Parts: sequence; C-alpha cells; structure tokens
Amino acid sequence: MRVLLLGGTAEARALAALLHPRVEVISSLAGRVPDPALPAGAVRVGGFGGVAGLREWLVDNGITAVVDATHPFAAGITANATTACAGLSLPHLVLHRPPWDAGGALQVSSDGEAADVVADKGFSRIFLTTGRSGVAAFRDSPSWFLIRVVTAPDAASLPRDHELVLSRGPYRYDDERALMRRHGIEVVVTKNSGGAMTRAKLQAAQSLGIDVVMIDRPALPAAVRTVGTVDEAAAWVLSRGSGEA
Ligand code: NAP
Repeated sequence: MRVLLLGGTAEARALAALLHPRVEVISSLAGRVPDPALPAGAVRVGGFGGVAGLREWLVDNGITAVVDATHPFAAGITANATTACAGLSLPHLVLHRPPWDAGGALQVSSDGEAADVVADKGFSRIFLTTGRSGVAAFRDSPSWFLIRVVTAPDAASLPRDHELVLSRGPYRYDDERALMRRHGIEVVVTKNSGGAMTRAKLQAAQSLGIDVVMIDRPALPAAVRTVGTVDEAAAWVLSRGSGEA
C-alpha cells in the first residue's frame, strides 16, 4: 500500500513516524512555512492544483489510501481531498484532533466576527494568535496588538499599533503567563485549534482572568470518516494493509 499523508501538523509528523518505514507514506506539505519541521519518510511540497490536480497526482503516484492530518482550519485541502478520494473510490480518513473546551470564551465563527467583538468590547491590548491569514481582519483597529505568527504577514495587513513575535510552538504555561503579564494583555484571540502545542495560552489567560475570543472550526465535509488521535489513524492504516475492512 502507498499512503498520501496530508500534513503540516504535529499529529501528521507523529503519524509518519509511527508508520515509516513499515508502510510507504508520502507526506505532503503546503509549503507555506520556510524551513518546516520535516516528517519521517518521503515528503512532497506545494499545492496539487485543486481537486483535478490532486486527483491526477493520486493516480499518477499509485496512492491506495489518503490520511488527511491537516490543521482543523485547513478547510480547503480537506474539501479537495474528500472530493478527489470519493471520485476515485479511494479509502480516506481525516485525523481531526478534538477541539478545546471553549469554557467561558466568547465564541465567534470568523476572523471578522472576532474583530467585531474586540471592537465592541473596547479591548485595547490584544494578544492575536490566529495566524498569518487572520491578521488582516484587525487591520483598521486603533488598539494595540501583540501578534504571534510563524511567518510575518504582509505589512499592509497589519494594524497600525502592534508588536510582531515570530515563533512556533510548543508554548509553556509559565512563559505564556509571563508574556501576557509583561504586555498587559486584556484579551487573547485564538482559533479553536485543539491539541497540546498551543493550549497553554488558554490556561494562562484563565489564571490571569484575561478574556478569550475563540473562533469556531469550519465544518467538516459530510460523511467523512474521522478519528481523533494519531494512534487511531495508525491503526486504520495498518488494518488496511492487513486486509481488514
Ligand atoms: P487550505 O486553506 O485548506 O488550503 C489551501 C490550498 O493550499 C489547498 O487548496 C492546496 O492547494 C494547498 N494545501 C493545503 N494544505 C496542503 C498540503 N498539506 N499539501 C499540499 N497542498 C496543500 O490550507 P491552509 O489553512 O492555508 O493550511 C496550509 C497548511 O498549513 C496545511 O497543510 C495545514 O495543515 C497547515 N496549517 C494550517 C493552519 C491553519 O490555521 N490553517 C495552522 C497550522 C498548520 P491546491 O488547491 O493547489 O492543492
């Protein structure tokens, strides 16, 4: 068997490490991040060119199963993989890490709604952790932002008053707490990414009585097979290799 593993997450790297070299796995990265953490085994980088391009790539490369372990907010590639696999009748699994408990967070459904809530509530010192593409929604805000991203956003998408922190997780509770205190943060804006890598900011905010605005996940395509853990995804792949249903 030959598995395409759609990645760009810690879970995808953990799954590749579990399967390689027992199963032939080709991990795929979008290529957004310079110097990405590389998974074990073969890796390809860059978009496929929509559903048609992905479909062609799957056929040309003799792929027999697809595991989508992309980030829960990477809805485009998840939709494309679902359509391409259905069209080719290829076994397809989505590794969808469980969401965080939103607790007392203000829940919104988009970056734009998050920006509206921040404006309506009059927050003036904001810790923005929604990623490079989420920054533009806050461009016209007069507030001050601590913006943490892996790669710098375009200058045109940045709010006037900000400090940029370029880094990638994992982050520790003590460090997150110290960062928020040092900058007098009033609210943390985050996606509901789930997972352990970036969860400490929620615990730190709670301990300091800081508000959280949390963006809900996009819906998964209907009728996809999902699991919540790396071990379950590995078991699914291995069971296919042994001929189980
Ligand atoms: P997206 O909006 O769902 O995808 C946009 C396009 O990027 C896709 O149509 C596809 O291009 C290409 N693409 C995305 N993931 C790919 C992959 N693993 N391999 C090859 N091509 C891929 O994705 P996104 O939200 O920009 O995320 C891009 C990547 O970053 C994903 O792999 C994801 O796991 C990772 N990531 C995303 C977030 C986030 O918050 N969104 C956070 C952490 C990591 P074509 O149509 O040309 O095939």
